[in-house]
Amino acid sequence: MKPVIAVSGLRKTYGSGETAVHALRGVDLVVQPGEYVAIMGASGSGKSTLLNMLGCLDMPTAGGYRLDGFSVAELNERQLALLRNRKIGFIFQSFNLVPRTNALSNVELPLVYSGLRRGPRRRRALAALELVGLSDRAKHLPNELSGGQQQRVAVARALVTGPALLLADEPTGNLDRASTEDVLGVFDRINAQGRTIVVITHEDEVAKHAHRVVRVSDGLIVSDEVRRRVGALA
Ligand code: ADP
Ligand code: MG
Repeated sequence: MKPVIAVSGLRKTYGSGETAVHALRGVDLVVQPGEYVAIMGASGSGKSTLLNMLGCLDMPTAGGYRLDGFSVAELNERQLALLRNRKIGFIFQSFNLVPRTNALSNVELPLVYSGLRRGPRRRRALAALELVGLSDRAKHLPNELSGGQQQRVAVARALVTGPALLLADEPTGNLDRASTEDVLGVFDRINAQGRTIVVITHEDEVAKHAHRVVRVSDGLIVSDEVRRRVGALA
């Protein structure tokens, strides 16, 4: 099986000389299709830096990264943007929905540049909204939705392109307990359908849902615990 993520000797240094910050100091990580991985660690341990590398949002100082078989280092900016668009669905703490644009149009947005016509675009966006349990909110604006609902719209938007990887940075950081459970329920469902998920979090609540927990400390992976194999029953 081709790994979704294959990272080796990944390093990231911000700045140089005496003020250099070694945010990642040699990270090796392989994530197989269908895995649900939580990356945990204290504030400042390098989680967001790692996410930026995994998401091709920033380039490492050293080390290799293959995303769904593609070697990231060999790509130019344009190819990288394309790879990111095709392979990764991002979910952020702050939802990042477009205001004054309804839920359906928000979900449709990543498909606008895909060359897909309006009809099929709509149908795929509606299917993604249905997957997160929000078919009945398609015409609502973000500010007419609860935080949990807004984040589910963001999940639908991340899924609509059929990405190889769902990458989430503190997705429940702005949510209350009930909304957190809603969003985690959606993650469970889409992972059960085979979607690969990597979620960065400092909440045990979130990590409990993942099948594998990777702990980062001071720019290094210090533990990697598999709780449940891909495809194993809960
Ligand atoms: P976490 O997400 O786990 O809180 P980060 O990856 O944000 O950790 O940060 C890891 C280290 O790198 C910290 O010491 C932080 O101050 C530093 N850092 C992060 N981003 C930058 C940047 N753009 N420039 C300089 N230092 C940074
Ligand atoms: Mg962070």
